[in-house]
Amino acid sequence: MTVKGSAALIRLASNPKCEVLGAMVMQEGSEKKFYERVIGAPYDREFGERQSSRRRGTQFEQNAYAGDARLLREAIATTWNLEPDALTVRNLMDSYPGGKDDARIARLKITRTILQDAKAGRAVPDLIIQPQLLLPTRPGPRPYFFIAPDLLVRSPVTGLYLPGDLKSFIVRENEVAPSDLARVRLQLGAQILALRHEYHAIDPSIAVETKGMLVFSKPNGLRPHAPRLEDLGGAVEAVQIGIAAFLRHRARIDGLRVGAEPYTVAADLVPNFQDSCLASCVMAQWCRQRVAGRTGDMGDAARNILGDLELNHVIGLMQGSVQPANDQERIIAEQLRTIASRNGQGRAA
Ligand code: SF4
Repeated sequence: MTVKGSAALIRLASNPKCEVLGAMVMQEGSEKKFYERVIGAPYDREFGERQSSRRRGTQFEQNAYAGDARLLREAIATTWNLEPDALTVRNLMDSYPGGKDDARIARLKITRTILQDAKAGRAVPDLIIQPQLLLPTRPGPRPYFFIAPDLLVRSPVTGLYLPGDLKSFIVRENEVAPSDLARVRLQLGAQILALRHEYHAIDPSIAVETKGMLVFSKPNGLRPHAPRLEDLGGAVEAVQIGIAAFLRHRARIDGLRVGAEPYTVAADLVPNFQDSCLASCVMAQWCRQRVAGRTGDMGDAARNILGDLELNHVIGLMQGSVQPANDQERIIAEQLRTIASRNGQGRAA
């Protein structure tokens, strides 16, 4: 788990109301480090992607990129009925490998040059492997996120590049697990926004489509399945909401911390605990404690139906010992009494 780059944007898009997440994104270092600084104890649970999944992902990418990306070209060519051998490839990792900022900036410069060349009608590759983009979040002390799609693919229809992501999830009968798909769609949404930013720096009139390419694995042999071209308008919007939330949270955190590190004000921030936190965030147990005794502790469904209330208040409504504060609570009280009477639970005297 990391809260840097596009991973941070996906987390914020999934839970834009969480201020603690905003502090995690602002804080230097890993999510695990953030936990340890806030709690003051080591994080002793399973953390991050499993080694086996990481190995599988790396192997899938190696297979796809080997031999001038032969398997990838064959898979992508099917999308537009092209000839795989006619597709040209440039792998930017060959020139500037690694994840350090200087290598990323070198790849960013090449990516920008290719986009400019394409706009000027000069020869450019059909596939750019491991390009680098930036997504600005001005104004403020962290002015951008580094966004690194696995590839940019030039559409023969529009002449514009669209982002593509390789995932070693297995496609069976053209279906992928919904939770995997939702995460990857948000990732592509962030990539589209970053690509739009780069294109608009060249020419603001360029209309970048909200489309992206997903390349999953065949069930056997970690070979690319026929890609899916996805319309990602909803994902782009969700990421924009996440960025707007980050800017709001950052302003509040900066006001609270007055120069100290972001983790120091975590206890003053408002979390937004959801069921999905349990599987996605190191702070889940800490945030769950903060909703203990409230409807949120019973899960998203209970909080959505009942509202964010104390459980004692809900029990009081059911028993008639607490007067409803509004129409919503009046309806809840009636429904709970109906259910209680069906189950033989009496009203308070
Ligand atoms: S666990 Fe806490 S910090 Fe993490 S996303 Fe959920 S509410 Fe936010």
